Amino acid sequence: MRVLLTNDDGIFAEGLQVMARQFEKIATTYVMAPDHEQSATGHAITMHRPLRAERVKFLHSPDLPAWAVNGTPADCVKLAVEAVLPEKVDLVVSGINRGANLGTDVLYSGTVSAAIEGAILGLPAIAISLTEDKEPRFEYAAEFVCRLATALVGKGMPAGTLLNVNVPGGTREQIKGVAVTRLGVRQYRNAFARRTDPRGRTYYWLAGELVDADEDDDTDAAAIKNCKVSVTPIHFDLTSHDTLETLKTWISQL
Ligand code: MN
Repeated sequence: MRVLLTNDDGIFAEGLQVMARQFEKIATTYVMAPDHEQSATGHAITMHRPLRAERVKFLHSPDLPAWAVNGTPADCVKLAVEAVLPEKVDLVVSGINRGANLGTDVLYSGTVSAAIEGAILGLPAIAISLTEDKEPRFEYAAEFVCRLATALVGKGMPAGTLLNVNVPGGTREQIKGVAVTRLGVRQYRNAFARRTDPRGRTYYWLAGELVDADEDDDTDAAAIKNCKVSVTPIHFDLTSHDTLETLKTWISQL
């Protein structure tokens, strides 16, 4: 198996390094990741300045082919697959993100967008996030994603479909299994704090309190609440297929 690893927390983030150590045991592993944190950059790509991929050395494995890129997570996947890697990889894995990527948040997530870029390029892909971000323990998530990656490469997925994985914090004994879920809906209450700067001008700072607007128990957020690993199959086709026929009817009557 040949795997490309990336993330949005930056090339030296602990979650990526722990995951790289696990993948090295089972696969030919390449790493290309942003040179600094790019969380919540969504699917942005760089068009108006040059990209550079600088070789970096990981202390635990100095021979691992790894590059830091002055771009976004989606840039890293495109650049690796289309220009830099010496061979075709079998899958792309993005993470392990520090903090959850659940429900509607996947649309803002650089972690998930990197995996989506893999799917756009026709590769199986996984985004993986650890929900605990205060004292993150990445080891269980790294072992789980290696098992999942092996299964995914063996079994395959429909074109354009990738897996979004969230692992609850805590010890491995506290994790109560794996749930296959759908994306829930998340909203933030009082999202902006409004303050005044020392020169008397107003500024806004995004913060706010999370509200799970979706109370059903088949969502990704519900799985995490129940201390289960959540695995959600997602795709980037934003077409509302259910609406096509209705829309055709009323457009024809314009
Ligand atoms: Mn991140």
